[in-house]
Amino acid sequence: MLKQNHRAWVEVDLSAISHNVRQLKSLLTAPTELMAIVKADGYGHGAIEVSQAAIAAGASWLGVATIPEGIQLRRAGITMPIVVLGATNGVDEVKAIAEYRLQPTICNPKQALIYHDVLSTIGEYVPVHLTIDTGMSRLGVNWQEAIAFVKLVQHLPNLEIKSVYSHFATADDSDRAFMQLQTQRFEQVIADLQTEGIYPPRIHICNTAAMLGDRQIHYDIVRTGLGIYGLYPAPHFKNIIDLRPALTVKARITQVKEITTGTSVSYGRSFIAPQDMTIATVAIGYADGIPRGLSNRIRVSVNDQKVAQIGTITMDQCAIDVTHVPNIHIGDVVTFLGGNSENTADDWANLLGTISWEILCGFKDRLPRINVVKAIGVLH
Ligand SMILES: *Cc1c(COP(=O)(O)O)cnc(C)c1O
Repeated sequence: MLKQNHRAWVEVDLSAISHNVRQLKSLLTAPTELMAIVKADGYGHGAIEVSQAAIAAGASWLGVATIPEGIQLRRAGITMPIVVLGATNGVDEVKAIAEYRLQPTICNPKQALIYHDVLSTIGEYVPVHLTIDTGMSRLGVNWQEAIAFVKLVQHLPNLEIKSVYSHFATADDSDRAFMQLQTQRFEQVIADLQTEGIYPPRIHICNTAAMLGDRQIHYDIVRTGLGIYGLYPAPHFKNIIDLRPALTVKARITQVKEITTGTSVSYGRSFIAPQDMTIATVAIGYADGIPRGLSNRIRVSVNDQKVAQIGTITMDQCAIDVTHVPNIHIGDVVTFLGGNSENTADDWANLLGTISWEILCGFKDRLPRINVVKAIGVLH
């Protein structure tokens, strides 16, 4: 099996992805649909395989950030609607959207008119999603200008409005005041549109945190990213449904050596052996996505024992303390994140003062990806 040769790799449990999608869907009432957010290569899990697993478990929309991310899914034969959540303004971008049947987010009148110009020239028409800024101050027209914006797009014959949406700035916060303000603004926009006789076919505002936190605002679609990968956006969401992390990061031992008291380990000598020790070098480092800031701060799992990572994590390698692990051999597998290690992406995020999203997206292409379906075994 190929896996035997890898120095380091990530394992993605696709049955966990399906399980998580089903758990998230169990909170929805018909006709609310689930959009699986698979941007950034499926948060580092592999966008194609995650999309397939999510669709099989009941997702009916896919969300990506960029056009190349959408094209990758189309080339893999995925036919579900794919929404590009990022901004797309260039002539070539509009053409690519049309060619690959992607559905862009339209953020402002200027962008709408660029789409209109290009599409009417090439004789194409495109389903679009209009985004309204209710407080995130990222993409979208300000909520006060939303009615004029929607009316403008309505009159552009090559753009078909599929949905009107917004995005929360603080959905993972236990203080819900700002989220409620954004919700009010959004609902006011929808009400004002209805007064004008305009009924968007779909409206949506929830990311994972919002859909877990408030079932009253699921509307027509929920856009779930983090949850499908098995992480909770914040600890206070933990009891709502059962999510299982899908990602495990592993690497092999490449050398085992004895060191005496006082010997320093790795760059900068940040670890000095307090006694005679057995240490092992492991073939994974910060260029693979193990943050250097975790040096000397994490425990990893090897031969079913938890041991300390010691010394500075280097670009491609790091050391662990195996003094008390019997029968350690070159080629033994060390679990860094997930699986039988103590570590979740949340633990690492907390140590580093960041969020689990950033940890998940940090595992680089240099790590081969092995897909597993737990019930069946290793796929390839
Ligand atoms: C990334 C993203 C999401 C998904 O967010 P999660 O917190 O990972 O669920 C939803 N909507 C938009 C617009 C996004 O950019």
